[in-house]
Amino acid sequence: MRFLDLEKQHLLLRDTLEEAVIGVLRSGAYVKGEVTPELESKISQYCSMRYAVGVNSGTDALRIALKTLRIGPGDEVITTPFSFFATVESIVSVGAHPVFADIDLNTYCIDPLQCEKRITPTTRALIPVDLFGSLAHIHECAKLAKRKGLFLIEDAAQSFGAKESEITAGSFGDIGCFSFFPTKNLGCYGDGGMVVTNSEEYAKRIRLLANHGSMSEKKYTNICIGENSRLDEIQAAILLRKLSHVDDWNATRRKRAKRYTDALTGIGDLSLPQVFDLSHTYHQYTLRTEYRDALQAYLTDKGIPSIIYYPVPLHLQPALHDLGYRAGDFPNAELAAQQCLSIPVGIELTEEDENTIVSAIISFYKQC
Ligand SMILES: *Cc1c(COP(=O)(O)O)cnc(C)c1O
Repeated sequence: MRFLDLEKQHLLLRDTLEEAVIGVLRSGAYVKGEVTPELESKISQYCSMRYAVGVNSGTDALRIALKTLRIGPGDEVITTPFSFFATVESIVSVGAHPVFADIDLNTYCIDPLQCEKRITPTTRALIPVDLFGSLAHIHECAKLAKRKGLFLIEDAAQSFGAKESEITAGSFGDIGCFSFFPTKNLGCYGDGGMVVTNSEEYAKRIRLLANHGSMSEKKYTNICIGENSRLDEIQAAILLRKLSHVDDWNATRRKRAKRYTDALTGIGDLSLPQVFDLSHTYHQYTLRTEYRDALQAYLTDKGIPSIIYYPVPLHLQPALHDLGYRAGDFPNAELAAQQCLSIPVGIELTEEDENTIVSAIISFYKQC
C-alpha cells in the first residue's frame, strides 16, 4: 500500500489523459495556446468567479495574489502557523511581514477570534488556509476581513471543489489560490496553479504579473516587473479531462473519511474529523493522539504508510527564526504538530486497504 498511489490513479483515466497529452504534443502549441484559456473558463464557471488565470504553481498563485494587491514592505499579513511552508513563504517573498494567529484544534484551521486579535493598523490582508480540505471558519474570516477593511486571499490549495452554502472554495475572498501539484485532489502531472477573482482589475494585473509585466496584445512591451509563471498546455489538457471527475473523487474521499470516523470513534484517545458534508474535500484524513509517534511506528511496522502534516509549525521553522517567535507562542499549532497523523484516504484505495488500516489502529490501542 502507498500513502498516495498516483500510478494507480493514472490508470483510472489512462486512455483519455494520454490522448490529451498526445493532442498537445502534436499541436505545436505548448505555452499560451488554446487549452489553458479553456480550462480557465471552466474553472471560473466551476467556482462562480468571473476570472481565472493559470499560473505555474500554488506558491506562485499566492505570491502573485499578494503582488496584485500591492502588498509588500511595511505591510502585515495574518496567516496560520499550521500549513505548508508556501503559505508564509509567499508573504515573506514579497517583502511583507507575516503575523501568525493560532488555529482551532477541532478543525486545524485559523481561529477567527485569534485572527482578529492580531490585527494592527498596518495589517493589509488575511490568508486563511482551507487546511486538509476544510472550509471551517473561512466564512467568518471573510466577514472579519470585510468588517476591518482587509483583503482576504484564500489558500485553497487543498480544498478544490469544497462548497459551503453554494460558495465554492477559492471564492470566499478577493482572490482565491489553487495548486494543481500532482498530490492535490485535482492534480496535474507537473507543477501548476490558478488564481481566481471577481475583479477585472485584479485579473488583468494577475495576468500581467505572470507574464513578465507584458500584455499579450502588446508583445515585447513590459509595463511592470513581473515574472514567468504560466500554466502550460500539457498540464491544462490533463486538468481539463480530470475536472469533470473531481466532484466524484471528493465524494469518494468524504465517504471513506466517514467510514474511518465511524470505525474509530471511541478507540483510545483518538480525536477524529467530524464533518462529512460538501465543505470538506478530505485532501487529508488526519487524526490526533498523544501516542502519535508510537502509532506511526506501529503502522509502519505493519506496512501501512502514514504522514505527519506538519511536523514543524511555521513560526518555529528555522527559515523564519528572525521573526522572533518562540515555542509556546501558538500552543494549538504546536500540539497539532506533535499529535497529528494523516492516514491514506486516496481514491485509489480499496475497501480491503481501508479495513487493514482500521484494524491496525484498533490493534495498536489494544496492545498499549
Ligand atoms: C500545496 C500547497 C501550496 C503550494 O502549492 P504548490 O503548487 O506546491 O506551489 C500552498 N499552500 C498549501 C496549503 C498547499 O497545500
